[in-house]
Amino acid sequence: MIIILFGPPGAGKGTQAQRIEKSRGLVQLSTGDMLRAAVAAETEMGKAAKAAMDSGSLVTDEIVIGIIRDRIQEEDCKNGFILDGFPRTVAQAEALDVMLAEQGLNLDAVIEMKVDDEALVDRVCGRYTCAKCGEGYHDTNLKPKVEGVCDVCGSTEFTRRKDDNPETFGSRLQAYYADTAPVLPYYADKGTLQQVDGMAAIDEVAAQIDAVLAA
Ligand code: ADP
Ligand code: ADP
Ligand code: ZN
Repeated sequence: MIIILFGPPGAGKGTQAQRIEKSRGLVQLSTGDMLRAAVAAETEMGKAAKAAMDSGSLVTDEIVIGIIRDRIQEEDCKNGFILDGFPRTVAQAEALDVMLAEQGLNLDAVIEMKVDDEALVDRVCGRYTCAKCGEGYHDTNLKPKVEGVCDVCGSTEFTRRKDDNPETFGSRLQAYYADTAPVLPYYADKGTLQQVDGMAAIDEVAAQIDAVLAA
């Protein structure tokens, strides 16, 4: 199964992708995570992407299309994958169609997560993750069961993204409306677009996604 989780920064794409990965045995492919790994490793790609990421604008289509093209050919993607944060432009959506067709693969669902702008800024600025296992948390919406201790791995170290601040969030939301939202009619025209209420509680959003995937 191949699924796209679509939505603005903070919509809950990563949270739901992690859950689908566990429940359905699909691989989460987050271009944001892959780019941050490249920046941390100081690869050529990371150096080329860093300035755009820090300022909250989009990395070039060429870079992210190349990342996805290589990644979906790896062995662990054979059972299917969840695209989290890709495609983010119409050019990326078109390139994805070409690469899926080349490999004889079919897109099963594009799920748009709709969330109000005011809720997004709170979600993004309160977001943090376990430094060891990557489990996602939130200052008020999703705290670990024991304060300061990761539920999954017991680590007591957490990290926050440099771009998760109100200023950079503003640029990211602008990029979403200017370049990414135009991808929605692209999939609507193909009949693959579905929506869930991303304002609902995390478990409820997961249930809505399950219902979409079961239909
Ligand atoms: P995205 O990957 O779309 O940028 P995340 O999945 O990282 O978004 O979610 C952003 C923040 O909001 C995280 O801290 C997460 O715990 C929290 N969050 C995710 N889904 C919900 C929800 N349905 N209700 C409240 N908070 C949520
Ligand atoms: P969020 O979870 O808030 O939606 P991501 O982790 O997906 O953010 O992305 C972080 C940053 O990485 C983006 O602001 C952008 O600079 C870059 N990025 C990630 N995916 C893409 C993409 N598909 N196209 C262009 N830039 C991307
Ligand atoms: Zn952990």
